[in-house]
Amino acid sequence: MTRKEFVRMCGLLGLGIPLHSTLSSCSGGESQIEKFSGKVIIIGAGPAGLTAGYLLRQRGLDFSIVEAAPVHGGRIKRTLDFADFPISLGGEWLHVEKDVLGEIVNDPSVQIDIDTTPYNHEVDYGLYEGQEISTEDIGFTIDQKFIASSWFDFFETYVVPSVREQIQYNKIVQEIDYSGDKIVVRTDNESFSADRVIVTVPVKILQNGHINFSPALPDDKIEAINEVTVWDGCKAFIQFREKFYPTFVGYEITPESAGQKLYYDAAYGQNSNQNILGLFAVGTGTLPYVQLSDSELIDYMLSELDEVFDGQASANYIKHLFQNWNAEPFANGAYLTDQENWRTVRTLGQSVADKLYFAGDGYTTGADWSSVHAAARSAIRAVEELTA
Ligand SMILES: Cc1cc2nc3c(=O)[nH]c(=O)nc-3n(C[C@H](O)[C@H](O)[C@H](O)COP(=O)(O)OP(=O)(O)OC[C@H]3O[C@@H](n4cnc5c(N)ncnc54)[C@H](O)[C@@H]3O)c2cc1C
Repeated sequence: MTRKEFVRMCGLLGLGIPLHSTLSSCSGGESQIEKFSGKVIIIGAGPAGLTAGYLLRQRGLDFSIVEAAPVHGGRIKRTLDFADFPISLGGEWLHVEKDVLGEIVNDPSVQIDIDTTPYNHEVDYGLYEGQEISTEDIGFTIDQKFIASSWFDFFETYVVPSVREQIQYNKIVQEIDYSGDKIVVRTDNESFSADRVIVTVPVKILQNGHINFSPALPDDKIEAINEVTVWDGCKAFIQFREKFYPTFVGYEITPESAGQKLYYDAAYGQNSNQNILGLFAVGTGTLPYVQLSDSELIDYMLSELDEVFDGQASANYIKHLFQNWNAEPFANGAYLTDQENWRTVRTLGQSVADKLYFAGDGYTTGADWSSVHAAARSAIRAVEELTA
């Protein structure tokens, strides 16, 4: 069974699920006597970088997080300005059991007050096949939605307070020189020195050559970086006066490796009377959305929804919001496809010369990738390895 088939079988959305947990736990929130006592620089303040910093703080180690953007969160960006509940512009669903939140917090004394809702069998799911929606049984799914919260809010509440002082914003790393005893991390006008570096920038950033390594990364790592495919990605949210749509409308994309596209009830499970329909699209599913101007885009989305729902989209339209991940300067795309070779992903996750460690949704053990929980778990692994 391929990973994709497994995902299809287990997951409603097919947006990522682990084959097994890669986690081994650190000790609950107490600082330990560490073999390593030097300085760590973490590059990137998304879920992986924040988790890594949080765990280093638990261990009493010296670290800084160098972040290119003026904000933290990376691809779990969310907005509170569009609806009366948080709208996740990137990572939205929890693809594993909720216990993963406790694994990240790694401190049994902390009570995690985050509500999620599963999808149940009664959820109406339709597959759009050209003319009409066919009703499908969603079967078993582990995917959950946050209620009045989000992945971003989880990190903001439980992780960021421990690391906020260590985040340096607006620092775009361009070079990592690990030729000497100390590793030097350079932006265009600053340099930072460390004993270990954890790289958490999206794989696409390395593919696009935005960071120069000196000496060059090992050949197998370079090959892995160039071999994987990072899907394009976008999301949209549309508010309507009336709810005329089911919980999901999936679109068939062939071949499956090319992408995914789904309209979904973004207000599912929320304590809200607002009718917010989400569009999730990756790979070729993003076509043509990412090529259109904003006014063309809403016309396009309304007309494709009108076709399915008999003109009700245009009649009920209030406002919309669009997020193009390809155009984000520090993401350049969505995430690795489900179809990658797990060995290649594992190579992406391997450390280099006991100096450079890699954490993030594309740098895992190869058991799982392309999700927030996989990014966080890879950071747990990187911190364990770095401090061993
Ligand atoms: C459209 C979309 C939908 C998704 N849906 C889900 C979902 O439902 N569930 C789920 O679990 N996951 C989902 N994901 C995936 C999830 O968002 C990612 O797996 C997760 O954010 C990865 O975390 P990360 O820390 O590895 O990377 P990121 O979140 O990308 O963080 C990396 C950080 O590095 C910074 N950075 C980049 N370049 C530099 C540089 N040169 N110097 C310094 N800093 C730099 C970035 O600004 C960013 O803050 C989705 C993603 C997208 C795009």
